[in-house]
Amino acid sequence: MSSNSMPTPRTRVVRESDRGVYDRETLNRILDEGFLCHVGFVADGQPFVIPTSYGRDGDTLYIHGSAASRMLRNLDKGVPVCVTVTLLDGLVLARSIFNHSMNYRSVVILGQARVIDDPAEKLEALRRLSEHIIPGRWQDSRFPNERELKATTILRLPIEEFSAKVRQGPVIDDPEDMSYPTWAGVLPLPVVPGAPIPDQELESGIEPPDYVRNYTRNTSLRSMG
Ligand SMILES: Cc1cc2nc3c(=O)[nH]c(=O)nc-3n(C[C@H](O)[C@H](O)[C@H](O)COP(=O)(O)OP(=O)(O)OC[C@H]3O[C@@H](n4cnc5c(N)ncnc54)[C@H](O)[C@@H]3O)c2cc1C
Repeated sequence: MSSNSMPTPRTRVVRESDRGVYDRETLNRILDEGFLCHVGFVADGQPFVIPTSYGRDGDTLYIHGSAASRMLRNLDKGVPVCVTVTLLDGLVLARSIFNHSMNYRSVVILGQARVIDDPAEKLEALRRLSEHIIPGRWQDSRFPNERELKATTILRLPIEEFSAKVRQGPVIDDPEDMSYPTWAGVLPLPVVPGAPIPDQELESGIEPPDYVRNYTRNTSLRSMG
């Protein structure tokens, strides 16, 4: 399914439909800025929505976890999943409670995930996942051994049926509320890393690498190095 056929009847944003976006560029930008998703699936008639991390490579989303987890045990059977990613950009404080809102960029992906069995592909998917979350870290870490690889399940979710929704901009208040005497505006909520905290048992003389000191989720800043 190409992005030209988006939205499908299942992924068409209904409310505030002008905020629906269906192009891959927007989708990828949101997916690359985030690395936490919520995976929704039904097991034994009960819906579960599990937060977890992900990585993207092209039109594929990788999700990994313990081979023993309920999520992974169910998803590897090819059950339908709904994966959402949310970037919260700010609180929009209107004069009226009704018109309060949030600035955000979010994605919904529908599909079926498949287990990656091939050990080489599994390792490459793990690398993609690691590089998605903190570029540069993979090469600096001890690689997974056979036992660790066995204990890890990686799922591949083709990104075929999706939607994005974006709300950006100022307060939208009703004209009759404009003179209401309260502060109105946007409170931005950017993701700002704190100062790195060295491990208590860190060997002496090891400084935090650049990819830790300069960590950002802002993909345009990241590509500038
Ligand atoms: C941070 C944040 C806060 C929000 N707060 C509220 C709130 O308080 N109240 C509220 O009603 N809504 C809120 N929303 C919007 C909410 O996510 C839905 O868009 C909303 O419930 C309308 O859904 P719908 O009925 O149009 O679509 P539905 O019928 O529920 O969904 C139809 C299809 O539209 C697409 N879609 C719907 N919403 C999104 C989305 N957010 N991102 C990507 N694709 C989407 C999906 O593909 C879905 O399958 C919030 C969203 C975010 C990200």
